Amino acid sequence: MSKSTLSACRPLLFGSFAAICLTSTVFADAGAPGSTPNQTSSPIPWYQEKLLGMEVGPTGAQMGYSDPTDPRYCARFDGREIVRHCVAAHAEYLVIWARDGDYAYYDSKFLTKCPGLGSRDVLREAVDEARQHHLPLIAYCVMQQGGNYLAAHPEYAMRDAQGNTLAGLYCFNSGYLEDLKRMAVEQLAYGIDGFHFDMFVEGFGPPYGCWCDSCLKKFQAEYGKPMSRSMTWDADWEQVMEFRYRSIQRFEQELYAYVKSINPHATVDFNYHGNPPFSWETGQRPVQHAGNADFVTGETGAWFLYPLSVSLNTEFYRAVTPGRPVQVAMSRDVRMYHNQTTRPVNDLRWELFTALAHGAFATMVDKTAFDGGLDPVAYERIGEAFADVLACRRNFGQPPVHEVGIYYSSRTRDWYGREKPAKYYASFAGAHKAMVYEHIPWSVLLDENVTLERLQAFPVVLLSNAGCLTDRETALLRQYVEQGGRLIVTGFSGTLDRFGQPRDESALADLIGARLKGRLDTLDNWVRFPAASASTLTADLAPGVRRDWPFLVKGPAVIYAATTAEPVGELMKPFRTIRQQQGKESTDWPMSAEAPVGPAILVNHVGKGIVLTFAGSPDFATASENRTVEARRLLRDAVRWLDPKPRVQITAPNTVETVVTDDPATRTLRVHLMGYNAPPQTITPKDNPLSMQGFVLAEVIEDAPMYRATVELDRPFERVEAWRKSTQLTRSGQRVEATINDIHDVLIFHY
Ligand SMILES: [Zn+2]
Repeated sequence: MSKSTLSACRPLLFGSFAAICLTSTVFADAGAPGSTPNQTSSPIPWYQEKLLGMEVGPTGAQMGYSDPTDPRYCARFDGREIVRHCVAAHAEYLVIWARDGDYAYYDSKFLTKCPGLGSRDVLREAVDEARQHHLPLIAYCVMQQGGNYLAAHPEYAMRDAQGNTLAGLYCFNSGYLEDLKRMAVEQLAYGIDGFHFDMFVEGFGPPYGCWCDSCLKKFQAEYGKPMSRSMTWDADWEQVMEFRYRSIQRFEQELYAYVKSINPHATVDFNYHGNPPFSWETGQRPVQHAGNADFVTGETGAWFLYPLSVSLNTEFYRAVTPGRPVQVAMSRDVRMYHNQTTRPVNDLRWELFTALAHGAFATMVDKTAFDGGLDPVAYERIGEAFADVLACRRNFGQPPVHEVGIYYSSRTRDWYGREKPAKYYASFAGAHKAMVYEHIPWSVLLDENVTLERLQAFPVVLLSNAGCLTDRETALLRQYVEQGGRLIVTGFSGTLDRFGQPRDESALADLIGARLKGRLDTLDNWVRFPAASASTLTADLAPGVRRDWPFLVKGPAVIYAATTAEPVGELMKPFRTIRQQQGKESTDWPMSAEAPVGPAILVNHVGKGIVLTFAGSPDFATASENRTVEARRLLRDAVRWLDPKPRVQITAPNTVETVVTDDPATRTLRVHLMGYNAPPQTITPKDNPLSMQGFVLAEVIEDAPMYRATVELDRPFERVEAWRKSTQLTRSGQRVEATINDIHDVLIFHY
């Protein structure tokens, strides 16, 4: 045991200097396996003060069912070396691979140890070395993965509606939980600081589970009737979905409580799958499954989605666990985990700064070579990026300033999206993209935990194709508007019932100030602003758009007839060829505009607030393949008209992402700017170029961009400074122009 020294103490994001020194007693005398688990007296858990960590695991058993006779696998997977490399790279904690679907990487009494390790115990090595460096050590345990353990325990397997075994999935109502508890006891005895469990899902698509005997029995006991085996999308199927949701939640809560009963200071987190683009299929609902651990952990998704998913997911994780720390995990590889390709430093910096500016702490995932060896270049680059981020740490963690709350309806995800959740998700993702490109500070609101107070934290709420709204939500939205809130409504919002079926009248009819006349059954819908319009609002809501010119606003659209609202512009339906009308020709490609069918926009004053409704879906359009700049700008112009004098107005290239925070205690407002600078990309199509389905991987960022940005505050301030010396500032009253030549900088306003 080594006592803490001043040199071991780092500046803190949360808490006091004295407090972090106390945390080093965490590593007191944890003892050998089998000894009394480490009882810490840490007043601040590691996850509240650390900003950057590493997760390290081997490559070779991640697909499961690896050959146990291959001694090459993990022969060099060495806990001591991993800790030393992570410490040298400035990591503040380490998540180390301790168990997967095939092996334990420590001396377990009941799990098969990875044969390549021989007599070595990686967890023992890592714990011993971590103590020398006061490095919190978290055990990474894969719990949902096909492999040799599941093959040896078919009684734990998930089953489909016909009773067939589902490949590679454990049932959450089986006896598997008891095995995980036994494993947790073994690992806690090493003196680890916590667990990261990956991952609590019931799969990612059909066939679905679980209809094993255990689930059937449990369902019968809970509902007093047999579990429905068909996907009828009615009350019967709703019970099956609720049962699936509860199965995972119960499992998480029991495992969490059990670990805490052994060591209350050991942290527990679960890899989360309630965020978009995941849907009900995983068995997770955004809020219900985010809060069952000490903090939520999610992936940024840059490697399998798109670069904007970094900020979208980080804010999503914050919104599902308000007020709590959130961890985001990202890959050091250019494509996905387990490939040993190494991203350039600027690419790593861009993702790290984006996540941290949005309030997360971040874990860089390194998957080793097959034999467990470490890539020295990866650790050099990660170390360079980590050092730069940590030097800036005082600029992270302040309360965010938000202007627009983008509403996420999990009910709409489930019952309108059903097995094609992208048709809902596109509207949410497009709303996010528009806010980022237009530098409008935004965050996420969710149906599961929405309150009037949460709505009122945003000057503008964007109801993005939230088709299925409950009476409670509608009442809250009404209160919000009546008390002065500004609401934007798009697409099918309010027009579907709880099972996702069309309603005769919108639940929002009186707020919108219009009757629902019908829905277009097309997505290639158009908007036009006539030059001869009587509405004076056209100039405000479509200032830059050419008159008498239809432009595509792809996405679901509703035909409204105004009652109390003022209609603006025209929604137009597309042409359909005779063959399309006969169902003989695809409608996948957009067809040109034919004729107006109703207003494009409706503006309705309600109480002290305003409701602005788009009959179409500029959000969906912005995320679609047939995106138009004009569609996106409809959203920007709507926000600016509804909230003409925001706290901060930013202009910058739309390659730059911005985050605004305010620290009232020190009267400091910060504007983070992340300059995305990926070059144009080419990916060779596999077969027919049209079969690429729009999927092009972004290129990695090598160079720092150089660009100008302006920031204008709504009030006077004393002085402004830039974090980086390379940034040049010119001030003019309440407006500052910055010329920035880096991946990240932060402008610091003292007011
Ligand atoms: Zn089951």
